[in-house]
Amino acid sequence: MTETPHNVDATEVAKFDALAARWWDPDGEFRPLHEINPLRLDWIRQFVELDGVRALDIGCGGGILTEAMAAAGAAVTGIDMAEKPLGVARLHQVESGAKVEYLQTTAEHMAAQHAGRFDVVTCLEMLEHVPSPSQVIAATAELVRPGGHVFFSTINRNPKSFLFAIVGAEYVLKLLPAGTHEYQNFIRPSELEEWARAAGLKHQASMGLHYNPFTREYSLGPNVDVNYLMYFQRPEAG
Ligand code: SAH
Repeated sequence: MTETPHNVDATEVAKFDALAARWWDPDGEFRPLHEINPLRLDWIRQFVELDGVRALDIGCGGGILTEAMAAAGAAVTGIDMAEKPLGVARLHQVESGAKVEYLQTTAEHMAAQHAGRFDVVTCLEMLEHVPSPSQVIAATAELVRPGGHVFFSTINRNPKSFLFAIVGAEYVLKLLPAGTHEYQNFIRPSELEEWARAAGLKHQASMGLHYNPFTREYSLGPNVDVNYLMYFQRPEAG
């Protein structure tokens, strides 16, 4: 076993390794990611034309968003610390014809080598799985070029999000395997915004992501009480 790198929770990464084989099963454990993917991709594309940009997808897993950005014309690098999801991602792109470069590394390590190299950096559904999300956010601010775009998504921390994202999603509706999320790792929008501001990123927009258990459909809306997305820009140099 190699030593776990800095700012990686081995227990969290192991959860994703264990489920990797089913990453692309639209009815499997990652079904919610498949279902929200068009919504979050559209939201990103409201702000950024992906065709021709260089994008980095941090915590890419099996590559659901990564491949979709490549299909939209971006040159995408996907990074993750879990080996098995990366293996699945590499296999899947052989089938799909997507052209993504997948690397097993951390955002922090990548930032040390490729500062300012990306037009767009995405880090979705990942911050709530790392010991220090603020360090990942700081790394995204280094990775993106001046004037470039950074997108995060995560889960808010309050009694309602506990009820919806853990009790509801994992135990009642069983949308996700029990134990997928740890409540204490959830992140308030104010915290995310403060960490991003401290890293030099400027807040541009926020959006809530909602699940309707009756229609079983996801939708975007202004309420950020549970799942949400946030968009930042690195100011132009000068
Ligand atoms: N972003 C993808 C997958 C989200 S699942 C999507 O939204 O479709 C969370 C992913 O983050 C998992 O693949 C997990 O292995 C990865 N991860 C957790 N900690 C990480 C770390 N410190 N560095 C990189 N990836 C990490």
